[in-house]
Amino acid sequence: MGIDITADDIALAELAGLQELIDSGTTLSDEAADALRTELCRYYADAAGGGINALAVMIGAWRKRKQFKTAWSNVPEKLMLAVTELSEAMEAYRHIEMVGEHDEAVPIDATDCNRWFTNFGEEIADTIIRLLDLSDALQLDIEARICEKMAANERRPSKHGKTC
Ligand SMILES: [Mg+2]
Repeated sequence: MGIDITADDIALAELAGLQELIDSGTTLSDEAADALRTELCRYYADAAGGGINALAVMIGAWRKRKQFKTAWSNVPEKLMLAVTELSEAMEAYRHIEMVGEHDEAVPIDATDCNRWFTNFGEEIADTIIRLLDLSDALQLDIEARICEKMAANERRPSKHGKTC
């Protein structure tokens, strides 16, 4: 029986070679290496079928490659680290001074705020990465849990029945 090699397999092998090139750090600028890492991350997630579970698997692979440990025994620590990332997002939020009505506020200083908006997005991403790392390590089908929970949320009344 022959081995069925697809175009995706070849592309993945090429990208794996690219990963080695990135890891060697000898020929690429930091910006170029970061751009390639971003593309690799997207490619691996797409190759795994896309969706949030694919991202969790990709983050789990990164965890193993970097020799971090996430297991049932250190769940409390990992949960608190996710909270820490939310605190960092809160700190970024506090640096964004806005004018105007709450729903249509604009930054006072767009240049400075862009930096803090970037930080805010990064910390939200850190939070999600930590939670998806946990999901992968504990083999949670987080995509199914989210869909089930959103189905339940849809069934609930507006504002979940609260009047104020
Ligand atoms: Mg962070």
